[in-house]
This record gives sequence, C-alpha cells and structure tokens, in this order.
Amino acid sequence: APALLWFRRDLRVGDHPALSAAIEAAGDAGVCPVFVVDDRLLQSSGAPRRHFLAGALAALDEQLGGNLLVVHGKAETTIPRLAKALGAGSVHASADYLPYGVRRDERVQQKLADQDVEWVTTGSPYAIAPGRVRKSDDTRYAVYTPFYKAWQQHGWRKPADSASAAKDATWLAPKDVAKDSGLKQYGIDAVDHRVGDVELPEPGEAAALARWKDFRKLVTDYDDDRNRPDKDGTSRLSVYLKYGCIHPRTLLAGIDGTTGKGAETFRQEIAWRDFYADVTYHRPDKLWTSLDQSIDDMQWDDGQDADEHFAAWQQGKTGYPYIDAGMRQLLAEGWMHNRVRMGTASFLIKDLHIPWQRGAAHFMEHLVDGDISSNNHGWQWVAGSGPGSSQFYRVFNPTNQGEKFDPDGDYVRRYVPELRDVPGGKVHQPWELPDGPPNGYPQPIVDHKAEREEALRRLRA
Ligand code: FAD
Repeated sequence: APALLWFRRDLRVGDHPALSAAIEAAGDAGVCPVFVVDDRLLQSSGAPRRHFLAGALAALDEQLGGNLLVVHGKAETTIPRLAKALGAGSVHASADYLPYGVRRDERVQQKLADQDVEWVTTGSPYAIAPGRVRKSDDTRYAVYTPFYKAWQQHGWRKPADSASAAKDATWLAPKDVAKDSGLKQYGIDAVDHRVGDVELPEPGEAAALARWKDFRKLVTDYDDDRNRPDKDGTSRLSVYLKYGCIHPRTLLAGIDGTTGKGAETFRQEIAWRDFYADVTYHRPDKLWTSLDQSIDDMQWDDGQDADEHFAAWQQGKTGYPYIDAGMRQLLAEGWMHNRVRMGTASFLIKDLHIPWQRGAAHFMEHLVDGDISSNNHGWQWVAGSGPGSSQFYRVFNPTNQGEKFDPDGDYVRRYVPELRDVPGGKVHQPWELPDGPPNGYPQPIVDHKAEREEALRRLRA
C-alpha cells in the first residue's frame, strides 16, 4: 500500500531515516510527502520564522520534484483524511518530543488506529532522542557536564543514506486534494528573503549543506572565535537545525575523528541542544515556569516603569552599547550571537529586574532559530534557575562584556549607527565622551552597579 510521509521539523531528504522507512514500506506503491500548516504553530512564530519556513518548504518541494503537498489544517483531521484518500497503509514521521507535538501525535495515532493505518516514527531532530541518555538509576541528568559525558558514551547512529533512496522513489499525491498552503493568510504569497528589515538566510537543505561545508573549514578556530560577536566565528546553522534542513548527526559525522579543541567545543554545543531537549522531555511543565521555583518567587518589577524599561531593551535603547547592539541585531537579522544572548538576557533579568519569561517571549517572536527548548532553557540558565545553570549571582557587567568580547567596538558600530564615529573600544562607554553620547544616543537607563546590588538583595530576600 502507499505510504504517507509527514514532514515536520525535518525539511530535507538527506540523513532522513523516516523518509527511508516510508519508501521501504510503500515499495512500488509510492509515497505521498505532506506538510501540514497548523495555525497553532504558525501563530506562535514571528514573521521571519514563517517566511523562512515558507522558503524551506519551497526548497523541499523542488527536491521532491514538485510533489510536496502543503495543506492547511489541523493535523489530527488532515493526516487521517489524507491517509484515507490515499489508501495508505502507514503514516511515517520523525518523532517529535515537544509537548505540543507529543499531544498532537497521540491524537493522530489514535485516529489512524481507528482506520487501521499504521503510525511509524523513525528518528528525531536530535543526535540522541530525548529521554535516552539516563543515569544508571534510570533518572535524568539535571546537570549538563555529566549529561555530556554520558551522551558521548551512548553514541549516535551513522547518517542515513536516504538521499539516494529519494532519487528513485515514486511520489504520489492523493486525488481531489487541493494544494492549499494556508500561508497566504499569514501574508506569505511568495518566497521572500526579506521580511521588513530582516534579511533571512537562504532556506533549504542545499543552503544548509553549503553553510556547513564553509564552516567545517573553520571549526579548528571555533573554540577561540565563538566568543567574539564582532567575528563570523560560529556556524550560523541554528536556523537550519531548527527546521531540520540539516540533521545534527550529519554535523557530528563531519567532525568525527577531528581532534583539537575547536571540534570538541562544537560537539559540546550540539550536546547542549540535545540536553535542553532532554530537559523539556522530562519536565514539559517547566518551559514557562522556573525549574527552580524560588526564582519565580523573587520580587520582580512590573507596572509602567518596568514597561518603559522593557520597551527600551526591546528596541536597543538602554544606553549600554553592547546590549543595544545585540537587541538591534535581533531585530535586523532574526539572530543574535550567543554571547550577546547571554548578556542581554542577564541585563533584562538582573539590571531591569524583569522576569525572564518576558524576554524569552520577545526572543521567540523574533529569532529565526527560535526553539522553545534552547531558548527557554537558555533563559533559565541565565536566570540561575535549576542546578544545571549559571548561578543567579553571576551578574554580567554590560560594559566589561562589551570591552572583552568586542574589544575594538566593531560589533557595536555595525548595529548602533549613532555611535559609528566613536573610535575603538571607547564606543562601550559613550557617557564618558567629553560631550556625552552623540547623535541622540541615550544615557544609560539604569546604573549597573546599583542594580547589581539590588538584584543580589532581592535574591537574598
Ligand atoms: P554555533 O556556535 O555554531 O553552535 C552550533 C549549534 O549548537 C547551534 O546551531 C545550536 O544548535 C547549538 N548550540 C550552540 N549553543 C547552544 C546553547 N547554548 N544551547 C543550545 N544549543 C546550542 N539556540 C537556538 O537554536 N534557538 C533559540 O531559540 C535559542 N535561544 C537562546 C536564548 C538564550 C537566552 C541563550 C543564552 C541561548 C539561546 N540559544 C538558542 C543558544 C545559542 O545562542 C544559539 O544556538 C547560537 O547562538 C546559534 O548560532 P550558531 O548556529 O552560529 O551557533
């Protein structure tokens, strides 16, 4: 019987075990590839992410010879309906481990079972599926470093050779099902790499592989360069990983046998992604509340002053150039360097005393790589929530961070045009200039030293 292959966060044909499984199950009867545009997921994505998704779908459609069926609707009704129209014997997908996806898949599976259609998941978006790396007593690792050791010991599968299987596959579309992408109602008519002021990365698998090929040559320098937002020292693969245009196993296989600190550190970062997915798997209730309840119980600011501070932070107008450059990079590119994500998050939580959840929601709206596990646990890490985190009392100094990680000020000048004429590292303290900050750039909205004390006082209280 034909098979239905349901694409979700795996928009590629290479290293795709579920695709191989579908082709094998269907044999000559053929496979119908489908993507369901689900309002619930689209509504929680900001415009840049929706546009990137549209581009990645178009690229995948091309790889599948124009056979990708993009349908608008709820998965729990759409997938069983398509399976019926196709006369499918099985529905194949990569497993989803996020809370919404898990609940949705349970409902789909139930409906398919009623129709006597098999539900088969093969592979996941992670090097090792969440929940697999466990302590000897079968509990989860709450702390990253021992997780990383166990993760390495566990090991991962070799990349699947699905690309060659895809070349010879018979692709099908059920009759009487119109292509109705539902992306139009989100203002997406055509693939567009520019959304407002945001220039999106080239979507799709080919672009991901090209980026990986380029970065692969630089991986030896990764350990030194990754902390420098003024340099192009990181892979910029997060958005491709988010939509599965490339699988992390492909990356791990690509550096297999490569020694040196660069490759090792890069492997550790891939493991952070798996770690946060593992935390979500075990504690799906802790995406929007702190793993450590005492963080949520602290005194936080709200009301008009907090709203004004929050708006200044969002717009990159705090008067701290390194923070403002980061927040403006987010608005301009839908991406922010990891170091600066940590700095801007710390500033919101500890200098402005605003709960991490507000910042996390802003990031999720604007990041093209916005991923609920990496983002919200990244925020919890900065907030000092949970045993695997940085401690709350490690408060980043926004000026020193800038001087350390952007020593010549190039990063700040790239994103904060008001400061373009301020030379070198002086750009990190514009309030020290003889005439004060130029071109209407603001004075700092808070005094870091005083707010640091205040944050620590609240922590003790
Ligand atoms: P590289 O340095 O090249 O790293 C390679 C890959 O490793 C990344 O693509 C990513 O998949 C993974 N990785 C690296 N660092 C981390 C990390 N700290 N946690 C989890 N995975 C990591 N990452 C997201 O993918 N989506 C998010 O929504 C997200 N939000 C974040 C929010 C905060 C407050 C913080 C501190 C971090 C967040 N990160 C997030 C992690 C990290 O900042 C990005 O993965 C990284 O900046 C992406 O750029 P890159 O691909 O060039 O990374």
